[in-house]
Amino acid sequence: MEKRVYNLSAGPAILPEEVLLEAQKEFFSYKGSGMSVMEMSHRGKIYDQIHQEAEADLRSLLNIGDNYSVLFLQGGATLQFSMVPMNILKGKADYILTGAWAKKAAKEAKKIGSVNIAGSTESENFNRLPRQDELKLDSEASYVHFTSNNTIFGTQYRTEPEVGNIPLVCDTSSDMLHKKFDVNKYALIYAGAQKNMGPSGCTLVIVRKDMLERSDDSLHTYLNYKTHAESNSLYNTPPTFSIYIMGLVYKWLLKNGGLDWIYKVNSEKAGMLYDFIDGSDGFYKSAVAVKEDRSLMNVTFSTPNEDLDKKFIAESAVKGFSGLKGHRSVGGLRASIYNAFPQKGVEDLVEFMKDFKAKN
Ligand SMILES: *Cc1c(COP(=O)(O)O)cnc(C)c1O
Repeated sequence: MEKRVYNLSAGPAILPEEVLLEAQKEFFSYKGSGMSVMEMSHRGKIYDQIHQEAEADLRSLLNIGDNYSVLFLQGGATLQFSMVPMNILKGKADYILTGAWAKKAAKEAKKIGSVNIAGSTESENFNRLPRQDELKLDSEASYVHFTSNNTIFGTQYRTEPEVGNIPLVCDTSSDMLHKKFDVNKYALIYAGAQKNMGPSGCTLVIVRKDMLERSDDSLHTYLNYKTHAESNSLYNTPPTFSIYIMGLVYKWLLKNGGLDWIYKVNSEKAGMLYDFIDGSDGFYKSAVAVKEDRSLMNVTFSTPNEDLDKKFIAESAVKGFSGLKGHRSVGGLRASIYNAFPQKGVEDLVEFMKDFKAKN
């Protein structure tokens, strides 16, 4: 078999090897059908089963009730920045700014209604999350939007901000399914597949059914959540291959022990890396100012200077670690250790970091 690298890319990102091998086995001819999943009709029996199972497995992983619709859409999380306000913003909405993605979401909402920035740490370069006591929520807002994990800055909410009775909307693109959470706290959740769930091309939306009543019939058909809820995400051709791979990822999670299992693994992996960074006598520094805000998914850090960061990236690549460069807007280093990133990979990364520190 071809050798694989330790892929620490922020997204598209690493997938479980078992899933890739399963897909490889079924690639040429899916379960005796004589064709690849890519080649089959989205209206046929075989694909229909893949589609239904993906939804059922996701519902079982997250314990999603019948009062929620699960949608498989296209256009990335980026289209949701627009679809969310187009469908459910009536007048005004609250946005919590915790990074570049949250800002982009707020920018689109402003085209639909009035946006109240309910909290922001932009003046501190998003190196922490706004505290609950810093939030200025508007009780009449259509919803509060927040980003659960900030892929670029490496911060992550441990629990949802408290928003009382205002509907809660969340962009969970980079930490969806990294642990169990209570879907019932949310009016709408969305996530691009390509960070923690599958290949690019599919965006998951979980929307509470009462929210669908807000969608105006004057909206363009594809942009209306009701269209997709009523047609079971088969109004037009869905991203069939992405949904198929996501379905395999859901089965991989279920088989191994579900979200409690993966949360334990994720906590151990991130714990190992942060403990090493904290114990490195200041050689490595976390980019996040508040420990409780550190992400379990994207570990942002740096060496004593930019030249050493560059050297770190070059030398780590030679040793088989890919994607450790920080986002172009912030620099530094970033290790994205999503669900599929193996524990052994974190152990080997820590060994490499020890060695790099000793030599520099
Ligand atoms: C990557 C990312 C996005 C953008 O996703 P696209 O699928 O490229 O549109 C949005 N929000 C967060 C938190 C992300 O990590």
